[in-house]
Amino acid sequence: KKITIAIDGFSSCGKSTMAKDLAREIGYIYVDTGAMYRSVTLYALRHHLFNADGTVREQELRRQMEHIRISFCMNSETGRPDTYLNGENVESAIRTMEVSSHVSPVAALAFVREALVGQQQRMGAEKGIVMDGRDIGTVVFPHAELKVFVTASAEVRARRRYDELKAKGMEADFNEILRNVQERDYIDSHRATSPLRKADDAVELDNSHLTIAQQKQWLLAQYRR
Ligand code: C5P
Repeated sequence: KKITIAIDGFSSCGKSTMAKDLAREIGYIYVDTGAMYRSVTLYALRHHLFNADGTVREQELRRQMEHIRISFCMNSETGRPDTYLNGENVESAIRTMEVSSHVSPVAALAFVREALVGQQQRMGAEKGIVMDGRDIGTVVFPHAELKVFVTASAEVRARRRYDELKAKGMEADFNEILRNVQERDYIDSHRATSPLRKADDAVELDNSHLTIAQQKQWLLAQYRR
């Protein structure tokens, strides 16, 4: 019998790697909700919807929300879904530092969350889904059969994001990444709408000292219990 699996946690803690691997292994759909908030942010950057101080031009963005279409399509080469914004593959464009440093204020807006949470719930209407984000176990699927909350020290997480960007040949500065990770953690867990927190019934995993293979084993064991 297929279930709903919710994976939440802090920035760059390896949630998506774990979630993608599990989904592939058990034949479930995988949805990266961070990619959706990142896509809205990319749209806002491209349409000049930020003020010089980094705050969002809320009224403008609210008016344009209906023009923002986000979808996912399996990439047969990577075996993972790519993110599309209005029909354009933005999988790499949404991973830049510029998007990372603008995404948290966008994700704090109630009308943005409402729109994306609605879409996420529709995508998960059929069971057999692994979804990762910040509020999946608390807001999107409060009745998910398996909830996992992932943590790791900020330094470990910044190091992983740094290695990931370098491996893709992208620009990366460790201290800038560390600052960004800490800043996003702060904004994500202090915002008024759906702040990042562990659901009471989530199983917690601190993966600071675990390899990817160990994390995968752990998650698979949780699923099989
Ligand atoms: O997971 P990722 O780091 O790509 O997410 C980017 C940002 O999107 C987070 O820092 C957070 O501000 C926002 N987010 C969110 N709720 C989710 C997923 C992501 O607020 N479910």
